[in-house]
Amino acid sequence: MIKATHRLTVAIIGRPNVGKSTLFNRLVGKKIALVDDQPGVTRDWRAADGRVGGLEFTVVDTAGLEDVFDDSLEARMRRQTERAVERADVALFLIDARAGVTAMDKHFGAWLRKAGKPTILIANKCEGAASRPGLIEAFELGLGEPVPLSAEHGEGMADLVTALEPFMPKDEPEEEEAFDVDAAEAEVREEGETAAEDEPKALQLAIVGRPNVGKSTLLNALVQEERVLTGPEAGMTRDAIAVEWEWNGRPIRLVDTAGLRKRARVDEKLEKMANQDTLRVIRMAHVVVLLLDADGILDKQDLTIARLVIEEGRALVIALNKWDAVQDKNAALRRMSDRLQTSLPQVKGIPTVAISALKGQKLTDLLDAVVTTYGVWNRRIPTSQLNRWLADMTDSHPPPLVDGRRLKIRYMTQVKSRPPTFALFVSKPVDLPEHYSRYLVNGMREHLDLPGVPIRLLLRKGS
Ligand code: GDP
Ligand code: GDP
Repeated sequence: MIKATHRLTVAIIGRPNVGKSTLFNRLVGKKIALVDDQPGVTRDWRAADGRVGGLEFTVVDTAGLEDVFDDSLEARMRRQTERAVERADVALFLIDARAGVTAMDKHFGAWLRKAGKPTILIANKCEGAASRPGLIEAFELGLGEPVPLSAEHGEGMADLVTALEPFMPKDEPEEEEAFDVDAAEAEVREEGETAAEDEPKALQLAIVGRPNVGKSTLLNALVQEERVLTGPEAGMTRDAIAVEWEWNGRPIRLVDTAGLRKRARVDEKLEKMANQDTLRVIRMAHVVVLLLDADGILDKQDLTIARLVIEEGRALVIALNKWDAVQDKNAALRRMSDRLQTSLPQVKGIPTVAISALKGQKLTDLLDAVVTTYGVWNRRIPTSQLNRWLADMTDSHPPPLVDGRRLKIRYMTQVKSRPPTFALFVSKPVDLPEHYSRYLVNGMREHLDLPGVPIRLLLRKGS
């Protein structure tokens, strides 16, 4: 049915390699074939239906067209941009937050400002902490507050929805107030998974870890049924089974047991483990149990997975397996907890449980930890309580002076849970030092009862 209403068109623009195609593919949801791919055929843009967090629009992308013209890069980019922007209601202007703001970005930004097109500035490649300097620099472009995003990892899509919402045509059927965070999160998941509609209320649990740590054994023990094969013959794969059971009245669903089987089979290396497959499983989960061999060492691969879980904003529980086989239990526990403390300082208080999957020992403790941390991950702190706490924090340790004037921290509110995400309104967000943000986040963990889960703090300008 053709809608009479106007459909929003957004153009994705930016210099080469900032991630335009990646974002395009994510919004469009599948890799669309280029219509006209013969050499020499000039295409200026490609357009497709895009969706994110319940918003629907047309996306126009200019990526991959740099070779079509043969004059200067700037001229080429401008021409493409002009064409794309002409067709669009809003421009999504991407920069690479890892690379920082380049001369070309500035040039581009200046041009966009002059063109007067509504622009959403996007700091892409913003997964992980390394990208923050670029995010801050992005303010310099004078195009408003940048939206931190990782097109590749699907992080920050909820913020993109918030930024796009004001541009949605008014006569479209509106979503209920704000936006549906669950829908936005479901949106960022990979294709082929349960869609938002049939999303169960169950706690989605993933078990990850290196081959041979006992993932299949644990799965079996948890569901107390021989539903997957374990042991040396584990190569005999069975199809995916949606394993779901109840624990203390809460339905728990184990995600991606098929992937688990597959990964258990082959002796994969770090690069492989930190690959799409693990990422996909982590993204599907609410809580991720990272299984470690209690007698083994906590190595780079384990830490890579743990960091992925945290970066993806999932709740992490660490299980030290094969506890039955550990001789010196005290030494093993001390070694592991020391290493965890020093290696994952970004999240204090990650629940750690020593278990034996084989003997079925301490599985109750493990599930209790899973359900408890799930509760923390879902927690909402009332705004009044947050701001009373914030006042105490700023009183006992005021924000720094910048150019002789004290930074003003005005207000704080929780914008979402899963993971707990807060917006902090500051007179000059750019100038708020990292150590002060950390002071606040650590304080929240301690005083507002948010142990062991990732906490996100979004800095907003508030005058
Ligand atoms: P385009 O030239 O602007 O269309 O950029 P592409 O979408 O082709 O991306 C350029 C490169 O950046 C590719 O290697 C992508 O995999 C990578 N990339 C895109 N988005 C992200 C992201 O969010 N994070 C990281 N780390 N890399 C990304
Ligand atoms: P996966 O590759 O992570 O799925 O690991 P498996 O579940 O196939 O287990 C690998 C091996 O470790 C098997 O021989 C299991 O019997 C053994 N195993 C698993 N859990 C335990 C445990 O708690 N204690 C001991 N001693 N062995 C275990």
